[in-house]
Amino acid sequence: MSSASTDDAFLDALLGACGDSVLLGEAIPESCHSDWTGHGACRPLALVRPASTAEIARLLRLCNEHRRPVVPQGGMTGLAGAAVPGADSVALSLARFTGVEAVDRAAATLTVRAGTTLQAVQDAAEEAGFRYPVDFGARGTCQIGGTLATNAGGHAVIRHGMTRDRVLGLEVVLADGRVLEMMNGMIKNNTGYDLKQCFIGAEGTLGVITRAVLRLAPPQGETHTLLCALRDYPAAVSLLHRLRGAGLALEAFEVMWQDFYAMSCDWRGGRPPLPSSHPLYVLCEAEGDASRLEAALEAALEAGEVEDAVLASGTAQARELWTIREATAEFPVKLAPINFDISLPIADIGAFVEAAGTVLRQHWPGARIVNFGHIGDSNLHLTVDGRSLAEDTPAARHAIEATVYRLVGKYRGSISAEHGIGLLKRDFLHHSVPPDVIDAMRLLKRTFDPHGILNPGKLLPAKEEIDTPDAHQHGACGP
Ligand SMILES: Cc1cc2nc3c(=O)[nH]c(=O)nc-3n(C[C@H](O)[C@H](O)[C@H](O)COP(=O)(O)OP(=O)(O)OC[C@H]3O[C@@H](n4cnc5c(N)ncnc54)[C@H](O)[C@@H]3O)c2cc1C
Repeated sequence: MSSASTDDAFLDALLGACGDSVLLGEAIPESCHSDWTGHGACRPLALVRPASTAEIARLLRLCNEHRRPVVPQGGMTGLAGAAVPGADSVALSLARFTGVEAVDRAAATLTVRAGTTLQAVQDAAEEAGFRYPVDFGARGTCQIGGTLATNAGGHAVIRHGMTRDRVLGLEVVLADGRVLEMMNGMIKNNTGYDLKQCFIGAEGTLGVITRAVLRLAPPQGETHTLLCALRDYPAAVSLLHRLRGAGLALEAFEVMWQDFYAMSCDWRGGRPPLPSSHPLYVLCEAEGDASRLEAALEAALEAGEVEDAVLASGTAQARELWTIREATAEFPVKLAPINFDISLPIADIGAFVEAAGTVLRQHWPGARIVNFGHIGDSNLHLTVDGRSLAEDTPAARHAIEATVYRLVGKYRGSISAEHGIGLLKRDFLHHSVPPDVIDAMRLLKRTFDPHGILNPGKLLPAKEEIDTPDAHQHGACGP
């Protein structure tokens, strides 16, 4: 914890080094106090908004010398509390370091500064005749730097992979101000350790990402949307296998359990496109020849894999079908959601859903649980409605989380599929990551950030936080 006099000395030095980019006190907007979750909202000691790699390097060098925590901030749309500052920390916003620097049509790559929004990158790719296929609801606000630091997933992971899969090059500033220039633009480049991968998904704990070279995809062709009703989870796995082998490019394979489908159709009103009586529903999107999809569907109906289906006849009907899956946007208003973003081996997801339902209802009788998932990506979203609990208290929520994550560990799954660890999941990390691997993570942290100034208290479990005497405790209103 820092004292008022060390704060003053540091702020003098900060204003000297980064003058115009520094905001203090009331001038720091509330949007920098917490991310999308609102968790642990706290005003940092200072907000710095540098406009160049050199300025970021200068800032980090200074903070490192003063052993001052630095919390990198992108668009603050994160869902794990990973960008929440402490009261004694410097929030480093990338919001002024924006712009697409170049599009290389021959290589199908785009070079971009970290503060650029995902939407701006998608627009620039489209303008150049390509597509940047990482996509999700926060596109207009989240920044490329944030998507890299969280290794964001989104709608088209089944076809195009996670953010990590779209990166060829990276520029990173280390805690001591050294700039790692790794702006490779070639697909084939085996020159030693692929260090950039350490910083992708590291949630700002190892370095600050300043620029990136991203791989672009061809524009999307004709796509078709299909909603199927199924008898059970194994049928969904068979359908996934069938569609993968049908000569189509699968863009989405979303499985909705009856609890989710029935609730969503109820919220929409009107007649559901398929009756709500089936145990499971799959909404899929595929690019390619419509006749191939029709043939695959016919075979699936004949095999008894699919019990009923609707193939959208056009864009309007496709959009209608997607509104069922997009009921998640209404969760914060219509439920008191306790959300889980977990990964499990694809074949085990059905059994996990049943096991989780059983164990949760044993301890919390009457708990309302809804399930859907991007099953092709091994990703399950399980939600418990806090309103259905006898008491929706922080302790009850924590106990529910511990119950679900323990079960995830038993199934050898991951407690975070795409949102990261941040503050909200760090105490559960051990359910998915063995002790030796957590130790190796700590080793990496010490190597890149020996004084522990970068985003302290995030990702690694609190009790195990690096044990150097210099490591800062997170400030007064920290986690
Ligand atoms: C409506 C909505 C839908 C969403 N859908 C999805 C989804 O489908 N898939 C998904 O994966 N996520 C999703 N998210 C979560 C969120 O949008 C992503 O995690 C996004 O990548 C965060 O980007 P950001 O710029 O807002 O980062 P922030 O929230 O500002 O920061 C997130 C983390 O990245 C670090 N960071 C930010 N910039 C840098 C940088 N330049 N260098 C180093 N570290 C940095 C921060 O310190 C923090 O640890 C959704 C969020 C919302 C609100």
